[in-house]
Amino acid sequence: GEALAVSARVAPLGSRLVLLLVEDLTEARRIEAVRRDFVANVSHELKTPVGALSLLSEAVMDASDDPEAVERFAGRMQIEATRLTNLVQELIDLSRVQNDDPLEDAEPVRVDELVAEAIDRCRHAAGTKEITMAAGGTADLHVWGHRGQLAAALGNLVENAVNYSPARTRVGIAARRVAQPGGDMIEIAVTDQGIGISDKDKERIFERFYRVDPARSRATGGTGLGLAIVKHVAASHGGEVTVWSAEGQGSTFTLRLPEAGAARDRAHQMSHRD
Ligand code: ADP
Repeated sequence: GEALAVSARVAPLGSRLVLLLVEDLTEARRIEAVRRDFVANVSHELKTPVGALSLLSEAVMDASDDPEAVERFAGRMQIEATRLTNLVQELIDLSRVQNDDPLEDAEPVRVDELVAEAIDRCRHAAGTKEITMAAGGTADLHVWGHRGQLAAALGNLVENAVNYSPARTRVGIAARRVAQPGGDMIEIAVTDQGIGISDKDKERIFERFYRVDPARSRATGGTGLGLAIVKHVAASHGGEVTVWSAEGQGSTFTLRLPEAGAARDRAHQMSHRD
């Protein structure tokens, strides 16, 4: 890290090259460790619902003369099966956003459509908790990107806002254009009045499978992959996702994406550079 960088600067050229190689190796080892952790996490996350399903199916067979117990076990089997389906779907989504270049299928995408889709996706969950959802500022704004990936990213943020909020609170979605010398950006902010996130956890919630409270996340059908998907989508679109939060008060997740016109102008300038 710091020490390596400093000694690299003062060292003569030959040893500087060696240092660069060593740093490369360290990075390669870090990537390998992250990959191994991920595979271990996936195996664990898959084994949990599969194990539960296997135990529950045995319980159903043993309880065949007790219809009430059978119904209870069957209900729990359904929950585990849904959990498994969600996990597999999110793994597929994550692998897609990591492997496909979104800008190959980029087009101007209307922000009001993205927002309406995200709200629709959460309408049921919000309804049962009497959470009000309100959107503003989205008219006439267009972002540049892969429609499906952008919808998945915003959908995840709104879903989290609903999941990590108590009943009868409000989830707001506000969009605006931010002028920038390199080309305008669009900011879409999702604000909730939920449980909030501590400073310590804020640094980690974008990691794959990291959850502040695994039991709570599982209870709402969470997989721990949602924010990793959002972060990846934002970055591959030339944007970013940031979080503001105060524990017990709520959170705001802000997705920043290149504005469609600005992104097109940039591409145009590149192709006419010389
Ligand atoms: P999950 O499927 O568990 O929701 P995410 O990757 O979407 O996974 O989020 C990771 C963790 O970040 C969650 O388990 C939760 O602890 C925390 N989190 C995400 N969004 C919010 C929010 N709006 N308010 C409070 N905590 C949140």
